[in-house]
Amino acid sequence: MKHPKEEQTFVMVKPDGVRKGLTGEIIKRFEQRDLKIVALQMFEPTREQIDEHYPKDEAWIARLGQKTLKTYEKYGFDPKAELGMDNDLEIGKEVRKWLVDYMLSAPLVRMVVQGIHAVDVVRKIAGPTLPFMAEVGTIRGDFSIDSPLLANKEKRAVMNLVHASETPEEAEHEIEHWFGKGAKIYSYKRFGVDE
Ligand code: GDP
Repeated sequence: MKHPKEEQTFVMVKPDGVRKGLTGEIIKRFEQRDLKIVALQMFEPTREQIDEHYPKDEAWIARLGQKTLKTYEKYGFDPKAELGMDNDLEIGKEVRKWLVDYMLSAPLVRMVVQGIHAVDVVRKIAGPTLPFMAEVGTIRGDFSIDSPLLANKEKRAVMNLVHASETPEEAEHEIEHWFGKGAKIYSYKRFGVDE
């Protein structure tokens, strides 16, 4: 078992985060919460890498479609009229395609963030997936306002600045996927955290 301070999560600044000049702000928010950046790089992904990054199982894809359906229901929009479909899996497949294109639209910044409850705390700092629902004080709630209502109309993914792993298992898998097996993860003592 790893020491609790050694929990790691994977974070990517997405194209809108890079293009809005928010890379530094995003890193700052993790660091100010006493989390430690232990690997960091700007890079351009291949389509294949992005396609492999997002799950391909039907349950995950349907869940993606459900976010659209829930938002449409809440605001009284008809999915058939908006998208020409009302099945969660079908909508999810469409959203997944937009997502891959979006992730290829600018360089990304990848990092490994380490610290106590890193996975959950980073997700909390990022805020929920849909920016219009995100609390002020979160990255998504402070710097974005996107909604599936608008994104789907424009046939693109919801822009929400940052990706962060959902579970420690997913983090381990994503760190390996994006930094490679045996990647260089740095080790140092943070003032006030490690000593
Ligand atoms: P995350 O873990 O918070 O990034 O959220 P998910 O894994 O559920 O979704 C992956 C990404 O798909 C999100 O970060 C958004 O960029 C995009 N997305 C999610 N739901 C929708 C949707 O209903 N419509 C559109 N257009 N994009 C979506």
